[in-house]
Amino acid sequence: MRSVATVDTIRGLFADRGDSGYGGEAVTQWEHAVQAALLAEAEGASSSLVVAALLHDVGHLLHGLPDDAPDRGIDDVHERLGADWVAAAWPESVAAPIRLHVPAKRYLCGSDPDYLAGLSPPSRQSLALQGGPFSAAECRAFEQFPFAADAVRLRRWDDAAKVAGTPLVPFDHFLPHFAGVLAERST
Ligand code: FE
Repeated sequence: MRSVATVDTIRGLFADRGDSGYGGEAVTQWEHAVQAALLAEAEGASSSLVVAALLHDVGHLLHGLPDDAPDRGIDDVHERLGADWVAAAWPESVAAPIRLHVPAKRYLCGSDPDYLAGLSPPSRQSLALQGGPFSAAECRAFEQFPFAADAVRLRRWDDAAKVAGTPLVPFDHFLPHFAGVLAERST
């Protein structure tokens, strides 16, 4: 059975597997996660959303599939794997944006003409496996999901967090945000 998603477990998972590749992009999983979370932090996002950004692709670290799964025609459904693991230990304000970050990509492709053109080649390749752009009706339905707006914000940080050589911070930089999630839940 997989361990509970405590802060220590999450730190250990990145320490063990964070050096793995990020699906054909020029950054590692850890670099991608940190960049996404720092972009969230720079925009003044809530602690829940900063932690969601840090963990949005944690599903890639939990499954045993190779980095190039999309090249082999495999959708690894990492968003559900990661969100389910996170949801067992953290509130929906963290888990829902993780679960929705792939639907948010399909939403943006269906609602923003410039968005699709700006996707990186690997992201365009995985889009087809993920079901392609949402229709107008699917876009309207997506907007009704709780945390849909957070998922769209996360998606844009995700897309921007692929720059090789960006300065990093240690995992413990985000400890106040993990604590902040619990404070947000009690307010
Ligand atoms: Fe990502």
